[in-house]
Amino acid sequence: MAKRLEGQVAVVTGASRGLGRACALELGREGATVVVNYFTSPDPAKEVVAEIEAAGSKAIAVAGNVGVAAEAKALIDKTIETYGHIDILINNAGINRDKTLKRMSNEDWDDVITTDLSSAFYCTSAAVPHMTERNYGRIIVMSSIIGQMGNLGQSNYAAAKAGLIAFAKSAAKELARNNITVNAMCPGFVETDMVIALSDEVKAALLKNIPLGRFGKPEEVANFVRFLVTEGDWITGQQFNPNGGQYM
Ligand code: NDP
Repeated sequence: MAKRLEGQVAVVTGASRGLGRACALELGREGATVVVNYFTSPDPAKEVVAEIEAAGSKAIAVAGNVGVAAEAKALIDKTIETYGHIDILINNAGINRDKTLKRMSNEDWDDVITTDLSSAFYCTSAAVPHMTERNYGRIIVMSSIIGQMGNLGQSNYAAAKAGLIAFAKSAAKELARNNITVNAMCPGFVETDMVIALSDEVKAALLKNIPLGRFGKPEEVANFVRFLVTEGDWITGQQFNPNGGQYM
């Protein structure tokens, strides 16, 4: 059976670990050629490339801090230089620097806004001219339940993630005429390094607020991303909430 993303090129930022890794593998399994961006983890990124190749698709790992405009543009340029086009962009890279407002430094604020929010603008604005040329594009931003609910100690992260939702809606309105859709994934707490790093006490408190009683798995978010890029032709400017029922 033909794979649904054969012939398409996907860029996934922050694809060496966690949700980005799961999205890259899932898109690769569907036949997409995948550009696996990473920042500080070359070996895990190479393993993702090897897994995608083992599943029969093409992939390359490309280093770059997508919070720096020139590096984000270089990532997209490298994609075009190597494969000639870009069809799918998953703006996934993100960090957190959790502190209460009293303790949060300007640097904590700037680092998160730059890595989680500005990166999406940098990558999207570099990719859109290439998508427009072919009158096709599927863009997803990895927002978060925190962008919808807010959270203690996460004002920087919540602001970045809420910003991504608004960014997706505006970009969706601008780009619909070019057959480019832009949607926001807003996962709840998913078992990745970011959540595994939380203390047992915090994890136990979080679980009490998740009606389905467990954290999500990266694949449960990646499956939704795959749906959006394979079957989401009439879906744009929306938020999707795989979150175990934590926010309804
Ligand atoms: P992880 O910490 O497991 O992985 C983060 C990924 O982002 C890594 O691949 C890392 O690359 C990459 N990255 C970090 N900074 C940069 C940068 N400046 N440039 C390029 N890549 C970078 O995070 P998760 O998988 O948990 O999170 C992925 C996204 O999903 C984030 O945006 C996060 O906010 C969001 N999210 C996560 C949730 C969760 O519960 N886990 C819930 C909701 C949203 P490297 O290792 O190479 O440095």
